[in-house]
Amino acid sequence: MRGTIMDYPLTLPTILEHAGRLHGAQEIVSRQPDRSIHRCTFSNFYRRTRLLAEALLKAGLKPGDRVGTLCWNNATHLEAYFGVPCAGGVLHTLNLRLHADELAYIAQHAGDRFLIVDEDLLPILDGFKDKVDFERIFVVRSGGDIPSGMEDYDDLLATATGDFDYPTIDENDACGMCYTSGTTGKPKGVAYSHRGMVLHTFAVIAPDVFGLSMRDCILPIVPMFHANAWGMPVAAVMAGSKIVFTGPHADADSVLELLDNEGVTLTAGVPTIWLPVLDALKRQPQDWSLRPEMKIIIGGSAAPESMIRDFNDMGHQVIHAWGMTEMTPVGTTGVPKPAFDNMTEDEQFTTLAKQGIPLPFVDIRVMGDDGPAPWDGETMGELQVRGPWIASSYYKPEGTIDSWTDDGWFRTGDVVTVDAEGYVKITDRTKDLIKSGGEWISSVDVENALMGHPEIREAAVIAIPHDRWIERPLACVVTEVGSALTAEAVQAFLGETFAKWWIPDAVEFMEEIPRTSTGKFQKTALRTRFADYKLP
Ligand code: AMP
Repeated sequence: MRGTIMDYPLTLPTILEHAGRLHGAQEIVSRQPDRSIHRCTFSNFYRRTRLLAEALLKAGLKPGDRVGTLCWNNATHLEAYFGVPCAGGVLHTLNLRLHADELAYIAQHAGDRFLIVDEDLLPILDGFKDKVDFERIFVVRSGGDIPSGMEDYDDLLATATGDFDYPTIDENDACGMCYTSGTTGKPKGVAYSHRGMVLHTFAVIAPDVFGLSMRDCILPIVPMFHANAWGMPVAAVMAGSKIVFTGPHADADSVLELLDNEGVTLTAGVPTIWLPVLDALKRQPQDWSLRPEMKIIIGGSAAPESMIRDFNDMGHQVIHAWGMTEMTPVGTTGVPKPAFDNMTEDEQFTTLAKQGIPLPFVDIRVMGDDGPAPWDGETMGELQVRGPWIASSYYKPEGTIDSWTDDGWFRTGDVVTVDAEGYVKITDRTKDLIKSGGEWISSVDVENALMGHPEIREAAVIAIPHDRWIERPLACVVTEVGSALTAEAVQAFLGETFAKWWIPDAVEFMEEIPRTSTGKFQKTALRTRFADYKLP
């Protein structure tokens, strides 16, 4: 027997309409590049977003066409978050931290037809625009002139009349795209679906996940160009929460000012954001008056237990979250189950420092050497996941992809234990990547570049724990006989190819790189050897 319930599509226009009709007076606050504060209402956002959708269709946007954004967290980026998919297009957020060559590859591979760019990010666009076939580029102005060949974003909006009907959108159509750095080869694209995004939004809004309501004031510091800013912008629009954006200013004082002045109740960012904020709060607590009930979501890299304790001492609840670009992205959250009531304080914090319990509909298993491992908090294995907002493939993948098992699970590349209560703890990573300040560095790419140096025979790059950036790269190098290569020369050589923050902080010269029995570099041996390494 079939259910007697309507087959109603789960698409983003429904969220936009709900927000526009019911939460019109709610506020959106954005810090501008010149540090001034821009305020608008949901009504305003709703009107402009529909204008954007209409204008894009008038400009010739066809279903499934990609529209890139190179933008900070701000109200116009939120317009694109909804305006592009509500026109039947696909929002492709470009990560402004990437090297120009990588951005060129990603935008070209995705086939971005139009681009929306913040004026102060034009220097980044200059580095790669000639290598991409953008048809039209719309600049969100902040006071300057529009370069020739580009157009004013507001002029695009002015072509719309306000008389607009959403095109028909299938819930399984793509609404957005994001690229993720691979261990080897080129970055890989994930195409999010409307259905996956809507279900993810319902899940993160739930009280025991992030818990968003129309009484909340949300400050997502996690960039909107990285993994949908953990779903916060769409969730805040659906919940009708006040939204606050940092713009380009995510330093401790700017963040604290917004948390204080706007009455933020829920905020989210990587540990690197929180370290200086915590320092400032410890140094001058009297300067800031934060809402005591403010919840802080920390994820993207492991949140140190000390950080969770420190915020807790100040009265704030930390929710440690884990997810992946391939998962829209949230997979687990470290919320306290009732079992916490029977734990000692130390046990509670040890558990809160784990990556958390899976969201409903995130099916997890731990694959050990002998098949699925028990949830005993001890047996390690690769975390594998499946669910309605988890990618089933990459967009036009190149080369060999082994990220999915034959029985349909996504292999996360994270090595974990799961305890009897379902709390996942990441213990290691099988993927050869370094996560520095929330963004990836490919060890393999840096190694390949190093081994392209005429005086370098072998090179391995490993992550070293770092207080501020959580991880930083160390290069282990074997030089050719007779070479007098210095660390500085190696770093300068890499500077020709990579963004500055990709360059290893130190170079260790050695006789040979330890190898496994099959002849591969044994990075575990290097990690053990340099476990207490002090970076300069
Ligand atoms: P991304 O796709 O860039 O969001 O990166 C996802 C990866 O970041 C995961 O597979 C983990 O390796 C790492 N990661 C994300 N959140 C956490 C966390 N809370 N603790 C430790 N690692 C994390």
